[in-house]
Amino acid sequence: MTALVLDGAAIAREVLSELKPRVAVLERKRIRPGLATVLVGNNVASLAYVRNKVRACAEVGVHAEVHELDIDCGEAAIMAEVAALNSNRDIHGIIVQLPLPPGVDAQRVLQSVALEKDVDGFNWCNLGAIVDGHPRLVPCTPLGVITMLERTSVPLEGTHAVVIGRSSIVGKPMALLMISRGATVTVCNSKTPDLGSHTRSADILIAAAGRAKLVTADMVKAGAVVIDVGINRLPDGKLTGDVDYEAVRLKAGAISPVPGGVGRMTVAMLVANTVLAAERAAGVSP
Ligand code: NAP
Repeated sequence: MTALVLDGAAIAREVLSELKPRVAVLERKRIRPGLATVLVGNNVASLAYVRNKVRACAEVGVHAEVHELDIDCGEAAIMAEVAALNSNRDIHGIIVQLPLPPGVDAQRVLQSVALEKDVDGFNWCNLGAIVDGHPRLVPCTPLGVITMLERTSVPLEGTHAVVIGRSSIVGKPMALLMISRGATVTVCNSKTPDLGSHTRSADILIAAAGRAKLVTADMVKAGAVVIDVGINRLPDGKLTGDVDYEAVRLKAGAISPVPGGVGRMTVAMLVANTVLAAERAAGVSP
């Protein structure tokens, strides 16, 4: 068997193009959705991520601006930048590009983003809303995975989903979104003994550990849907996921590649969250 490839780039393009009419409705009210990114320092990977986000915004007519701060500007300057954006009426979404420099309390900075502009969905209130099944702004990566699965008509209800990783921005919200859709969910972490004994029973396996090729073919049930969230840079500079793609694609029913999978969906969901935040601010229903 060779797996169906879940083409995140194509689905992301679809999501972005569906946003255009919603942006047009706002434009008729003289509102242009605006996304501001606070970028501290010049980390090469961060610069590339930010460029992708700005490009995706431009594609659908969302205004994007990048506020660049010096690596040693200090936490107070970052907080002041966020505070100014919180009260800027032209900005509907704010993201603080991670990682922040050592010595800066990233949680304090992230939690200072206004709840209704928290398009990364990292605010504890937005995360808590998922627990209660009333999501407001959902973290972009788990939302991107769910969107990818739903748009490929992968049934979620009644399945066993295994999530590898328990971070607050990927693993945990991912698990909650799957639970809310009726999946039975196992969440694994670095201390889980015999990871394969769990993954082999997964109908849907979501790998978000940040460990290159952690998931090998013998850890996957034949026909399973395998979603690779991981982004790892190999010594030769190439990007790879958490899944041994070449081997697993011969056994899985469907698989998302890296690159061209979840990463593209994450960016599209960020733009979608920004449009949603602008609609809510304007009292327009999506
Ligand atoms: P993180 O905060 O480092 O969390 C990684 C999680 O994986 C932790 O819960 C860790 O367990 C678990 N883990 C690590 N090694 C493991 C192992 N051998 N077996 C089982 N679990 C293991 O990372 P993150 O922010 O969630 O991101 C995860 C990966 O996704 C990274 O590669 C990141 O670059 C990527 N990512 C991709 C996108 C995208 O758009 N595609 C977006 C965000 C993140 P413990 O809690 O026990 O340490």
